[in-house]
Amino acid sequence: MQASLLYRNTMREETAFKLEESKKAAEDLVLRNIRCPSCGFHLLNVYGKGHYLLQIKCQKCKFSDVIDTALFRTVRGINKRKTEWTR
Ligand SMILES: [Zn+2]
Repeated sequence: MQASLLYRNTMREETAFKLEESKKAAEDLVLRNIRCPSCGFHLLNVYGKGHYLLQIKCQKCKFSDVIDTALFRTVRGINKRKTEWTR
């Protein structure tokens, strides 16, 4: 509630409404980290598992290209599982 009051004092009401709706939409979704495909540097956080096409530029190695966020998911513990499968 306080956040929405703060927004209304500093930005247009339409923009504050869009921010509040964005927060509501993100509440039930999983937060994922997207890392640079070239160097692994953290690029951004994405909510959900959907296909979002983004033009990204890495601040560290200057890699620049379009990525599909659904294809760059990080599966936690995948390296441990891979070693278990190969045994
Ligand atoms: Zn990079």
